[in-house]
Amino acid sequence: MSQNTQRITQKIATSLNAEASLLLAAIVESSDDAIMSKSVDGTILSWNKGAQQIYGYTPEEVIGQPVSILMPESKQDDFPKMINQLKKGKRIEHYETQRKTKDGRIIDVSITVSPLRNRKGEIIGASKIARDITYQKEIERKREDFISMASHELKTPITSIKGFAQILQRLLNKLGNEDANKFLDRMLHQIDTLTNLVSDLLDASKVQQGKLEYKDEKFDIDSLIEDTVENIQQTTNRHSLKITGKVNTSIKADKDRIGQVLVNLLTNAIKYSPQAKEVLIYAGKKKGYLEVSVQDFGIGINKQHLDKIFDKFYRVTNPDGDIYPGLGIGLYISNEIIKRHKGQIYIHSEIGKGSTFTFNLPLK
Ligand code: ADP
Repeated sequence: MSQNTQRITQKIATSLNAEASLLLAAIVESSDDAIMSKSVDGTILSWNKGAQQIYGYTPEEVIGQPVSILMPESKQDDFPKMINQLKKGKRIEHYETQRKTKDGRIIDVSITVSPLRNRKGEIIGASKIARDITYQKEIERKREDFISMASHELKTPITSIKGFAQILQRLLNKLGNEDANKFLDRMLHQIDTLTNLVSDLLDASKVQQGKLEYKDEKFDIDSLIEDTVENIQQTTNRHSLKITGKVNTSIKADKDRIGQVLVNLLTNAIKYSPQAKEVLIYAGKKKGYLEVSVQDFGIGINKQHLDKIFDKFYRVTNPDGDIYPGLGIGLYISNEIIKRHKGQIYIHSEIGKGSTFTFNLPLK
């Protein structure tokens, strides 16, 4: 290439670059999302029209100001948390938090922050895109309130229906009417299913609102496992539930909630392994933790679902087309309970072979 051609090519490239930059600037300016940049110390460097619409400040009012002016009191620690991530070169995606507008309103936003680097690759600041999600959050809150109210209201009539059904069963027992007794047995079983569904719904909304209460008590985990397994064994004729190992120590935790996790894992193991004959339960100790696993030999879960399986209302559509009843909140609640006890819950699963759900809890 002659020197002249090289110069012309460079000129075209520069003018194309300049045009691309102008186009990009126009896109940023016309976006409905708030797009801004800030320096490493948190000083606002640029501010688009979307940011002005969402937060109410003009560029002249905020450029040069610290980003903390946008953070309500309760979210002031967002900045140090974010800057730590950015210094490691990490992006923060769809972080849901709250911000304060110029007129003092608190709004819900979803924020994505990416590190900005200079030519040498050093981090010199961050670009930030914020979307106003106040409306979605409001709808979510209303839905939560409705679920919480409806499940609360349903609890009382279900409890009395169960009470009356039990009285009826006792009366019919005296009369020796076996057929009627059989139907009442089924009815009581369905009432129990309904009770569990309603209390799962209520728990899920309590988790969401941070209101799930926990007790702290000392109890023998091996007895809890044995009792729970014995109870669940009675709900299945097909599966045989076998316990291997022992923790051999008592722990301090919420006994009912840990029992709820066990019930969840065991009922799932039975429900999602309709062709299998066994469910295995392992208990033991591992490096300062107790570990409990529930293994089934059922339909298994595809890898792509494994990281979402603990999300609220997440259910896998099974490729075999079989329909398994459920709401997709049992694992969500179980995960929350274990997390609250500073433990972990994880899955190992292979499609067509089965799943093992394991949780651990610190022993001290
Ligand atoms: P539910 O069983 O009521 O749908 P969960 O929160 O307990 O809700 O489980 C979420 C989803 O995870 C289920 O819908 C199912 O697709 C999958 N799953 C849970 N446990 C198992 C299991 N043992 N085997 C296969 N899939 C499971």
